[in-house]
Amino acid sequence: MKKYASHFPYLQPPKLELQQKPKNILLVNYKFIPMKKFRRIYIYKESRLPERGWLHGCFICYCITGRLLNFTTIESTGHISEYVVHVCPLCQKKLEKDSELYDEYVEKCNKYIATKVL
Ligand SMILES: [Zn+2]
Repeated sequence: MKKYASHFPYLQPPKLELQQKPKNILLVNYKFIPMKKFRRIYIYKESRLPERGWLHGCFICYCITGRLLNFTTIESTGHISEYVVHVCPLCQKKLEKDSELYDEYVEKCNKYIATKVL
């Protein structure tokens, strides 16, 4: 062990000389928290529009829309995945009122995520 210490001097604790130590010293305790990678997954019905654009087919009625509904956010050890669904304003209103349609929508989204994303 001593051999290593002589080869790698930075392994030894730094020597503090009291006379040189500054009087006003601020000690900041921090933990190293690795950044998680964020990804957003868009769910929509396929249309003639380019894949990279922000307009896509509504997931319920296929009409072209840029409106998004946050479906779910899943956090794992290295990633944060946000699933957003293209839903037009009309269908958003329908989803609020119709609980059956909402259940169907949730089921379809879960199926889509299970088959196409994961
Ligand atoms: Zn719609």
